[in-house]
Amino acid sequence: AGRLADRVCVITGAASGIGRATAERFLREGARVIAADLDGDRLATLEGVVPVTGDVSRDQDARRMITTAVDRFGRLDVLVANAGVIPLLSVTEAEGSDFDRVMAVDGRGMFLTCKYAIEAMLASGGGSIVCTSSISGVAGQARQAVYGPAKFVATGLTKHLAVEWAEHGIRVNAVAPGTIETERVAAARVEPGGPEYLAEVERGHPMGRFGTPEEVASAIVFLASEEASFITGAILPVDGGYLAR
Ligand code: NAD
Repeated sequence: AGRLADRVCVITGAASGIGRATAERFLREGARVIAADLDGDRLATLEGVVPVTGDVSRDQDARRMITTAVDRFGRLDVLVANAGVIPLLSVTEAEGSDFDRVMAVDGRGMFLTCKYAIEAMLASGGGSIVCTSSISGVAGQARQAVYGPAKFVATGLTKHLAVEWAEHGIRVNAVAPGTIETERVAAARVEPGGPEYLAEVERGHPMGRFGTPEEVASAIVFLASEEASFITGAILPVDGGYLAR
């Protein structure tokens, strides 16, 4: 039983935060979970998954995350393209190298994992992809000159891939989380400019609080599952009303 019973699912960035909560939730929904992350040690603390250590921005690693699913279980049903790095940088602080690094992980990594997932899904008759975008991938914010454009890649890939592959039975959607209480946010509280940034974005959330990784995982389960069978190309805010303003 479960809403993802026997579905073969790859989740990237699964060692921490939103990805980890999603992996735990997918397991409870009956999924077979391939959990991919750069951090192999943390991945090893996640029980019940097939772990794959690798860097989504590297071709051979991204390919291996997907082929592990096909080799182990014979097909791929779901990709949650979630791995990402979240720098808080203004354009005056950032260098070209910061832009390249973040685009490599949040942009190229999402592109590559989607590419290999779609190739695998075509071979097994369809599937569902959920990309983790952000409120920063839909609207403008301060201190997001590098991260913001990278999250627009997630939003853009979602729409373009949804249109192209719909007729092949592949749905592509995104969640756009508001600020979510993860270790990344805890770290931002002590970074230069971090407290001011967080205070400002917290005021932007009409519900008056940040979200939890589990609240994002619930939306990802819905989009990944057959309950969302007529939904593709959607960017679902999970943001306490942030984008409704
Ligand atoms: P997190 O740092 O807790 O988790 C991210 C995970 O990705 C980590 O386990 C990290 O090791 C992994 N990772 C980083 N680079 C990688 C790479 N090159 N290859 C493979 N794995 C890599 O962060 P999180 O808050 O859970 O973020 C997850 C996703 O959610 C990101 O795409 C982020 O942009 C998005 N998001 C987060 C928030 C938030 O407020 N936390 C808000 C909106 C969107």
